[in-house]
Amino acid sequence: MPSPWIAERMFRIQASGIRKVFDLSKTLTDPINLSIGQPHYDVPEAVKEAAIQAIREGRNGYTVTQGIPELHARIRDKLLKPRRGAGIDPDQRGLLITSGTSGGLVLALLTTINPGEEVVIFDPYFVMYPHLVTLAGGVPVYVDTYPRFQIDIDRVKTVLTPRTKAILFNSPANPTGAVADRVAVKALAELAREKNLLLISDEIYRMFAYSGTFTSPLEFNEDVLVLEGFSKTHAMTGWRLGFAHGPKPIIEEMAKLQQFTFVCAPSPVQYAGLTACEFDTSEWTAEYARKRDRIVAGLRDHFDLAEPHGAFYLFPKAPWGTGTEFVSECIRNNLLVIPGNVFSQKDTHFRISYAADDRTIDRGIEVLVRLARRGPSAGD
Ligand code: PMP
Repeated sequence: MPSPWIAERMFRIQASGIRKVFDLSKTLTDPINLSIGQPHYDVPEAVKEAAIQAIREGRNGYTVTQGIPELHARIRDKLLKPRRGAGIDPDQRGLLITSGTSGGLVLALLTTINPGEEVVIFDPYFVMYPHLVTLAGGVPVYVDTYPRFQIDIDRVKTVLTPRTKAILFNSPANPTGAVADRVAVKALAELAREKNLLLISDEIYRMFAYSGTFTSPLEFNEDVLVLEGFSKTHAMTGWRLGFAHGPKPIIEEMAKLQQFTFVCAPSPVQYAGLTACEFDTSEWTAEYARKRDRIVAGLRDHFDLAEPHGAFYLFPKAPWGTGTEFVSECIRNNLLVIPGNVFSQKDTHFRISYAADDRTIDRGIEVLVRLARRGPSAGD
């Protein structure tokens, strides 16, 4: 009788719709896979070597919960100091090494959200956000950003209530590829300060901002809690390394909780992180900018598309049917993309990841254009 033992909170969250597409992909031969949210390149050789060396040298035990001091120093020096001009004083911020950005998100929400408190989430959103807010006992409150996926500060103001505790913000964004414009980011940061709300900024795609510059709300409000990670920049998705920086009291509580949950980020990976911090990823960013141009050029005339400026995603409107109906037809045609309702309260769009080689991108464009032109097949 195992199911009565399952806690109620588990029935308030659903398995990710992305997993369903991954499972489907196993039934197809040679699918055109534009569904995966991870770089198509591998971890840099020097970083792999550093991990192997750390394992060989016996750095295989627990580390201190907050992360090894060498990595703290390296992150402050290489990643936080260059942002000093953008409002950051690296010495004043609390810093915690986490098990990926996801680990940071879990700790951040459990540390700050009381039962019944509301967390503002921009829709479309990264899949985890509503579920983690729910797990923490909070209530997700959505701000619709369709059709351009930019933040309208007046819409944010309309959803605030006395129960609002935090705003969860992500730019460059998954699944839309939108980079929030500077004026909106400033307004959001100032609104958070004025209303005494915690602003959590998920900056995992910070290095993947192509046209224009990336703006962090931290430039305008030093109390912003920032979550970053090595998964996307260094293709280390399976290695689970991220970091959180923010007001010291919050970071200290997150560390306390990490001690009783994740314990620490994987030790050899923390040592490899020292090398990762030295690695210049700008060539990859440039490559993804080219891929973005390639896929946008291929789809622009056939899809209603808010041009993406960052991350490696596009979020076009389904040319016919719901997002789910159109994606089902894509999958019948051997193309894997993700229906928009996985990331949204709506089912009108779909997500394409262009973290793929150019040939796969071109094959994907061919199928998408053909299906857009053809319209729904009989029986749909
Ligand atoms: N935030 C966003 C917006 C993401 O897209 C992802 C990964 N898809 C994560 C956080 C989690 O990344 P990780 O835990 O691998 O660092």
